[in-house]
Amino acid sequence: MTKSDNKFKFPEAVLKPVKNFLIEELGRLKKRRVQIEKDDPFADESRTSDNAAPDFEADEQFGHARSEAIGREISKKIIQIRKALSRVKIGRYGICEKCGEFIDTKRLMVYPETTICVNCTEKQKKEN
Ligand SMILES: [Zn+2]
Repeated sequence: MTKSDNKFKFPEAVLKPVKNFLIEELGRLKKRRVQIEKDDPFADESRTSDNAAPDFEADEQFGHARSEAIGREISKKIIQIRKALSRVKIGRYGICEKCGEFIDTKRLMVYPETTICVNCTEKQKKEN
């Protein structure tokens, strides 16, 4: 019994715009990450480093936490896009890396960087 699904490959005409989009998005995110790091108040070396935070440091703390959270999200997305690009490269784009099933094309349209299907995403969420 052969699993013909696994031989499926998106035609170049479909993959090319996806690939271009991902590369563009990657560039945009990298720039954004640099910007976010600059905006982080903790990146300002002139700030005091004592831990007993007076009120005026609360904003800074908040700003830092926010920059960090956004930075983390961006980094995650960058990793994800790199992964998707490598899937394109090996001709496995659109096929779930966990179960080998097709990823719903509607899902791919919304999240072109995705490399796992809805079912596996749900499973992963439960595990975490
Ligand atoms: Zn899957």
